Amino acid sequence: MQKKYLMTPGPTPVPSEVLLAQARPMIHHRTPDFSAMLMECVDGLKYVFQTANDVLILACSGTGAMESSFANLFCAGDTVIVARNGKFGDRMVSLAKVYGLVVVDLTYEWTEVVRPADIAKALEEHPDARGVVVVQSETSTGVLNDVEAIGAIVKDFDDCVFIVDSITGIGAVPCLTDEWHLDVVMTGSQKGLMLPPGLAAVTVSPKAWRAYERSTLPKFYFDWMRYKKNLDKQTTPFTPAVSLVVGLTEALRLMREETIEGIISRHSRLAEATRKGCEALGMKLFAPPEGRGSAVTPVWVPEGVDGKKIVSIMKNKYGVTIAGGQDDYVGRIFRVGHLGYFGDFDIITTLAALEMTLAELGYDFERGAGIKAAEAVFMGE
Ligand SMILES: *Cc1c(COP(=O)(O)O)cnc(C)c1O
Repeated sequence: MQKKYLMTPGPTPVPSEVLLAQARPMIHHRTPDFSAMLMECVDGLKYVFQTANDVLILACSGTGAMESSFANLFCAGDTVIVARNGKFGDRMVSLAKVYGLVVVDLTYEWTEVVRPADIAKALEEHPDARGVVVVQSETSTGVLNDVEAIGAIVKDFDDCVFIVDSITGIGAVPCLTDEWHLDVVMTGSQKGLMLPPGLAAVTVSPKAWRAYERSTLPKFYFDWMRYKKNLDKQTTPFTPAVSLVVGLTEALRLMREETIEGIISRHSRLAEATRKGCEALGMKLFAPPEGRGSAVTPVWVPEGVDGKKIVSIMKNKYGVTIAGGQDDYVGRIFRVGHLGYFGDFDIITTLAALEMTLAELGYDFERGAGIKAAEAVFMGE
């Protein structure tokens, strides 16, 4: 037997309380029991998203929520400003183009943070822009973009909505939907919500509903108004992902128990320990100091070491699954996920497996230095 550790930024480990809740016998969704759970989820999600806006629950992975944002907010030919510094920003551009939008494409290096001043300038140059799209926590790079600063800019443009992919932000870093003027914020179940994949949630501000009213892009399954109208009757337009909703009630109960502040401080501690541990092994962090999130820690593969082998040895020999790099960074970086159901000793375990793997690959470093550095963070030294 080999005990397995899932150290990826999605899917993430699922707590046993949630697994057991999902194993209950199936219930029908047009029942008072299900309605009560659905409303409890909406309420819990409002807490997690820190919002009084509508929260809609969709049966799809995160990309479905991304796609629904374009279909529900715009008309073909509308201009949107998309700032991208990673794989998921790239996906936003692809989606916008599929829907016939004109994209003002602010492209950054994957090691850079989106500059709010660039958004302000783009809005000045394109006063007709109907939307600004930013990924808060870029899972491909670990970079954290300052959506608070960008929200403060976009809020003054009455006909322009601010869409935030916080799929690995929610449940890891602060995301104050209302206070920061974020019109549409989305997350997915297999990330910070600690559930299996298959559910997404999206928040819709009054400004976003005004954009919905003028939008003419085709939509059916993801038509947000269907969800809102049904939610007013405590139900869903289509068969919901019943087991996931049942699991979500349990996950949200755990999150409320820990509190948002507690969740965020745990994640920042896990991220700090991972960073300190990797640096103590002589490796360099990928994300710049001014924009490091707490969901995932990407690290440059040291010179002379085969990055793909780091990932495969850790997985096959030690049962620890971390993520490799994506696109241009395949084999050049590895990524340790610590988003959701993670504790201090998951990081210690991962750093130990990493040290053993690096030693096997002939990398020169001081054995034990990584876990020692992480221990110091956990001990508050
Ligand atoms: C996971 C993720 C998504 C959505 O991916 P799915 O595979 O469709 O769930 C989108 N954006 C970010 C930043 C993500 O981490």
